[in-house]
Amino acid sequence: MVKCDICGLREAVVYQRHTGRRLCKECFFKDVLERVLNEVKRYEMFKDNDKIMLAVSGGKDSYVLMNIMTQIHDPSKLGAVTIVEGIKGYNRVEDLDQLRAYAKDHGIDIVVVSVKELSGYTVDEMVENSIGKGLKISPCTFCGIYRRRGINLVARSLGYNKVATAHNLDDEVQTLVINMLRGDEARLIMLHPKRRRFSELFVPKIKPLRKIYEYETARYAYLKGYKPQIYECPYLNMMPSLRSKIRDILYRLEEERPGSLLKLLEEYDKLFEKEVEKREVKLNTCIICGEPTSPGRRVCKACELLIKTGLLDTSLK
Ligand code: SF4
Ligand code: ZN
Ligand code: ZN
Repeated sequence: MVKCDICGLREAVVYQRHTGRRLCKECFFKDVLERVLNEVKRYEMFKDNDKIMLAVSGGKDSYVLMNIMTQIHDPSKLGAVTIVEGIKGYNRVEDLDQLRAYAKDHGIDIVVVSVKELSGYTVDEMVENSIGKGLKISPCTFCGIYRRRGINLVARSLGYNKVATAHNLDDEVQTLVINMLRGDEARLIMLHPKRRRFSELFVPKIKPLRKIYEYETARYAYLKGYKPQIYECPYLNMMPSLRSKIRDILYRLEEERPGSLLKLLEEYDKLFEKEVEKREVKLNTCIICGEPTSPGRRVCKACELLIKTGLLDTSLK
């Protein structure tokens, strides 16, 4: 039996490749919890009185987020929201029921909203129209925009003052690299945990798991016995996005040089810390739906997509 490198007593069940340690279940859970707490404190992500809405999808990371947040914040001040995309074969009643049951067991109220309720169309319908018009828009673009919008709308209307998402370290570094490659300065600033609030209409977002590797959230979920959603989205590989290419490259880099992703994010955090305090990104308001939109835009991306696919009838272009 290989013993845990921390307690030296119990059997090691996790090889934490970025530290080179082998850990038992208990020491691994403790290690993840402590690292989340460090990050939460370092960036003052929330205060004792904050009402935090957890954005959950039913995937492994959302179970880990709920588990950890109920340990570090008063469960009566937590809520959860999940967005049903409207993707055939992916949105399953059993998964939703399980998510509901888990949230209920942890004293968290969960709100379920569909993309159809938000936009009038399911993601499947948007994709179908887009293909019909010969457009090359990734299904994830429709899905991501409406999911983010739904989460923000629900949190705002129910009076939550923070939204916590389950983004892990791998997600964060992928976004960082994408924004750098695109030279998207505004988004680079907005990614930083110390960014200012850009619009009263946006409930500030926090990402407590941003320094936890994806392999760790997967192991955490497995060792806790969670049964997250296992069906893959049919659109996952339909149109390889820049993100999926970056994901592959970063995965290989991490394999060769364990700890690289963590180092990248740590360096970004330090380098941009001073910059984000000085910078103000002014968001515009969409002239169609009244929701906030990126600097320089008159029509938000959500409305623009519906116009392009012929699902929103307006003369405004
Ligand atoms: Fe949505 Fe893309 Fe994820 Fe499918 S793979 S659920 S379309 S973001
Ligand atoms: Zn141990
Ligand atoms: Zn709009």
